[in-house]
Amino acid sequence: MQKSTAAQFTKVLTKAKNIAIVTHWSPDGDAMGSSLALYHFLKAKGKNVKVIVPNDYPQFLYWLPGNAFVLNHQVQPKKTEDFIKKADVVFTLDFNSFKRIEVVGKIVEQSTSIKILIDHHQQPDNYAHLYYHDVKACSTCELVYEFIALLKGTKLIDKKIATCLYTGILTDTGSFRFPSTTSKTHKIVADLIDKGADNSTIYNNIHDDNTVSRLKLLGHCLSKKMIVMEEYKTAFISLSEKEQDDFLYQKGDTEGVVNYPLSIKGIKFSAFFAERDGIIKTSFRSKGKFDVNLFARKHFNGGGHKNAAGGKSKESLQASIDSFMKILPDYKKELSTNS
Ligand code: 5GP
Ligand code: MN
Repeated sequence: MQKSTAAQFTKVLTKAKNIAIVTHWSPDGDAMGSSLALYHFLKAKGKNVKVIVPNDYPQFLYWLPGNAFVLNHQVQPKKTEDFIKKADVVFTLDFNSFKRIEVVGKIVEQSTSIKILIDHHQQPDNYAHLYYHDVKACSTCELVYEFIALLKGTKLIDKKIATCLYTGILTDTGSFRFPSTTSKTHKIVADLIDKGADNSTIYNNIHDDNTVSRLKLLGHCLSKKMIVMEEYKTAFISLSEKEQDDFLYQKGDTEGVVNYPLSIKGIKFSAFFAERDGIIKTSFRSKGKFDVNLFARKHFNGGGHKNAAGGKSKESLQASIDSFMKILPDYKKELSTNS
């Protein structure tokens, strides 16, 4: 845990006029929820604020309040670069290494701004001037809620901010079921509902937004593509670009697929491989002690949390799967224990 003091944050933010909020590549619900919540909070404090994403995010997040003002670096490179260059402060949310924002990383690194990191992933790099980092937090949204409270801004949490924060907590906790969910999480969520977050509508907006082809792609993954290796208490799914095209793939369509194999009794480790943008995107999930953050860092140039991580491979889809299967015997002992 690394947390700067209220006085340190206040000193920097009081002086700041232009503030950029940057979140990670392929933003998820927590990335967008935390960034937009902080955006509304800083706007209410009279700042000139922009949320900047390195690339697009799933359409099931487009309804979030403030979405229309988000700048996508791939769509408006000049505008985003100019804003980062003139920013007094750059917040980096829900990631902790410039690698996670691809080309935007160089621009942030070279800017003269004060960098503030708010994040809950393991092993942060040390690029920031100020930190609000805690791996025990269920989500970056939980940390933004605490951060606002630290700055004595709880009264500014309105329906918009509450909605954004609720969304990230909902998505990053797998609807409050992952072990990172604590009584504190539920207390925060109760307060967010009191402040106007409509829990049932938010759930529907996120989860009941499927296209027919997305559901059929899930069916294809489960019935045709899932490989179970009981010996290693492991199961994985892979998808080629062609298969995704056949099911009219849109960004976000495979989000959550990696969780399904973990619901099989006895399975402790699940992996998902998808051919995307000329590389293989990998996702890893585990139950119990098996640490997929370490696994992703060591073998797939990635990282994340102990039970949820991701990475990438520059090999072909088949070669990535072959490598994965070759590595598994090294973890047999670890995977076969009962914890
Ligand atoms: P997902 O599998 O849903 O893409 O990501 C699972 C978790 O791992 C998320 O917390 C995400 O931020 C993190 N993650 C995903 N891909 C990468 C990656 O390439 N590098 C790192 N360091 N973390 C990643
Ligand atoms: Mn997160």
